[in-house]
Amino acid sequence: MYDAIVVGARCAGSPTAMLLARKGYRVLLVDKATFPSDMTMSTHWVHQPGIAALKRWGLLEKVRASNCPPLLTYRFDFGGFALIGAPPSADGVAESYSPRRTVLDKILVDAAVEAGAELREGFVVDALAADDGHVSGIRGRDKSGAKDDPRARLVIGADVLHSLVARAVKAPEYNAKPELMGGYFSYWSGVRLDGVHLCPGDYRFAFGWMTNDDLALVGVNWAIKDFHEVRHGIEGNFLRELSRLTPLLAEQVRAGKREAKWLGGTVRNFFRKPYGPGWALVGDAGYKKDPCTAAGITDAFRDAESLVQAIDEGLSGRRSLEEALADHQRRRDEIAMPIYEFTCEQAKYEPPSLEMQRLFHALRGNQEDTNRFFGLIAQTTSIPEFFAPQNIQRIITSA
Ligand SMILES: Cc1cc2nc3c(=O)[nH]c(=O)nc-3n(C[C@H](O)[C@H](O)[C@H](O)COP(=O)(O)OP(=O)(O)OC[C@H]3O[C@@H](n4cnc5c(N)ncnc54)[C@H](O)[C@@H]3O)c2cc1C
Repeated sequence: MYDAIVVGARCAGSPTAMLLARKGYRVLLVDKATFPSDMTMSTHWVHQPGIAALKRWGLLEKVRASNCPPLLTYRFDFGGFALIGAPPSADGVAESYSPRRTVLDKILVDAAVEAGAELREGFVVDALAADDGHVSGIRGRDKSGAKDDPRARLVIGADVLHSLVARAVKAPEYNAKPELMGGYFSYWSGVRLDGVHLCPGDYRFAFGWMTNDDLALVGVNWAIKDFHEVRHGIEGNFLRELSRLTPLLAEQVRAGKREAKWLGGTVRNFFRKPYGPGWALVGDAGYKKDPCTAAGITDAFRDAESLVQAIDEGLSGRRSLEEALADHQRRRDEIAMPIYEFTCEQAKYEPPSLEMQRLFHALRGNQEDTNRFFGLIAQTTSIPEFFAPQNIQRIITSA
């Protein structure tokens, strides 16, 4: 009998297993994948609060040692002019990183094992076991087809948006929004980028930064109304749009070599109730949003810390598990809702309103507020405070 079984061993599952194991709980961590692998779709940009979590957990040096360059300078390029700056830091961490998932997920899964979690890779969970409506374990099989049904006090689904755990327990969904945009990205050698490049256009958005192995990750997103057309000729549409949004980067990409296949697609947006009798959800399984603000990994780390705090309070008997998990849901939603709503607005890529255009022009030469503007994506600037009418007026009138 385990204290917890965690299904899914990437950005949400491995930290959850690691933090529980570090507190002395008996944890089984299972994933149908084996590690290292990057079967998860992601541009893997981790913001300052996520990097600060890696630092707290003693894992940041491993990311640095993987030869993944820090991303220090941010550039928001409107074509006619660019805002350049750096977001406020998080717990003294000024840089973000974009480690390949082969690198990051392996660091996380190894840390969970080092902390004492038992790992079963290549293990597919087919169903949950339940006693009187209370989840009591999983039913699954390993690569050889051998079946097993380990038991636990709590089964935690860190198994992404199609979560088997969420489906099995019929976790209620709320604040759901449809797919808002879609994009494609890939990896190039021979392209050099300094920091993060973000290039907005009407119903379009281009981006690029460096990752491991001297490769540049470059992508273009389209508002959903246009995305389905793009699928019919990805390369041509990608290069055409990149040239329109950022000619200099497009020139580099044309001269460089694409080293991977095209990756991309669309995602739905939703929150799910993250707990019930004998089960919990963490990461994308419990709260999924469009990747346009690249918040998924940073949010998954925060969610894992908050969930483990609640589980520890409950399993140790300091308070009722139900109450502790209800508090966790309140904490998660209070922090996540502003970035969720902001993300869903951004993902439409609508042309900026007159007021936003005035804001962008006013930010030129105002370094402090430009940095705070970048903090909206990094999650180090309060979204409601920045967009408060009096703050926007202050920036515009002080220009
Ligand atoms: C196009 C795109 C770009 C993105 N870019 C960024 C970005 O730049 N920055 C960022 O922070 N986020 C980004 N995200 C989001 C980010 O990738 C996710 O938020 C993050 O991977 C969530 O982590 P997770 O651990 O919840 O799920 P995952 O990383 O998807 O892991 C889920 C794991 O569960 C396992 N699993 C599922 N079902 C079972 C089963 N039945 N049995 C056993 N194992 C199972 C899977 O094998 C998988 O390993 C992007 C997403 C997309 C789609």
